[in-house]
Parts: sequence; C-alpha cells; structure tokens
Amino acid sequence: SKPIVAIVGRPNVGKSTLFNQIGKKRVSIVEDFPGVTRDRIYMDAEWLNHQFTMIDTGGIEIETTDDMLTSMRYQAKIAIEEADVIVFVVDGRSGITNADEAVAHILRTTKKPIVLAVNKVDSPNREMDVYEFYKLGLGEPIPISASNSLNLGDLLDGIVEAF
Ligand code: GDP
Ligand code: MG
Repeated sequence: SKPIVAIVGRPNVGKSTLFNQIGKKRVSIVEDFPGVTRDRIYMDAEWLNHQFTMIDTGGIEIETTDDMLTSMRYQAKIAIEEADVIVFVVDGRSGITNADEAVAHILRTTKKPIVLAVNKVDSPNREMDVYEFYKLGLGEPIPISASNSLNLGDLLDGIVEAF
C-alpha cells in the first residue's frame, strides 16, 4: 500500500490549504479513529511518480475535549502511529508559539522522518523568517506558501525522499 504522509500543526497555520494544494482526490471518509467526526481527512497525492496518501490531522476532532493542546497532542500521536512521513506545519509570520513547542516536543520522540514546513512565506524576501524554526530541533525548515503555491516542489521532494 501507499506511504502515508500526515500533516500536523496547530490551528490556522495552513494545514488544510496545503493538503488541498497537494492532494488530488478524496479517497475515504475517516472512521478509523475514536471521536473522528469530519471527512476530507484522507487524500491521494502524487509527486514525481511517487504515490502517497495524506492525512490532514487538523480535521480530526476529539469529542471529549475543547482544549486545543489536548487535541493537538492527540493529532500528533495519530501522526506518529499512522504515518510514514510527518509534515509539521508552522507559521513563518507568527514565529514559534507555545503550541508549536508542544507539538514539536511530541514529534521529537519519534524516529519517523519529519519534514518541517514554514508556511506563509509568501515572497522570497521573507525567507529569513525560517531561521528561528531550527530551534524546534526537527531539522531544516522549508519555507513555503501554501496559498500561493510557492516552493511546494521543494517540500514534496523532501517528503518523497523520506519514503
Ligand atoms: P489550518 O487550520 O492549519 O488547516 O489552516 P487553514 O488551511 O485553514 O488556513 C488558515 C488561514 O491561513 C486561512 O485564512 C488561509 O487562507 C491562510 N493561509 C494558508 N496558507 C497561507 C499562505 O501560504 N500564506 C498566507 N498569507 N495565508 C495562508
Ligand atoms: Mg484545517
């Protein structure tokens, strides 16, 4: 079966925008995890003849909590369990937040490959925004703009190289 790529990150960083930009079509409605209530979480994608399935973990809701950090920890754990490659999305405009740190803390416990995408770097002259994200301890940050489709090729190269 195809490799699974899970997209994780706090709300509003652009996970769904990225997911929709690189996804091709819906493949199923999620019902594999307890408390999952939304669809459009799995999508097929392809890059340079590599086919894979993406999960937008931000769409996974837990009915038992309204707490953002609890939800994010749960989503990160699903990513660690289910994915072959994890894409951690952060926001280059806001810089590192406590919620980013909380997710990074969990992601540092896995040996699975992690690709760090710094989104909302909407023009090349904003690329210096990425440097502080080295502090997350998850490798080289890749600047992207999901909404403007900038640098998604570099991100996808990093993803498929990790398969
Ligand atoms: P999610 O909560 O992580 O799934 O984030 P969304 O994909 O829903 O995006 C949150 C907001 O950020 C929306 O208003 C998007 O239009 C915006 N957004 C997403 N990607 C970019 C980007 O590359 N640049 C900018 N400037 N805004 C973006
Ligand atoms: Mg979303």
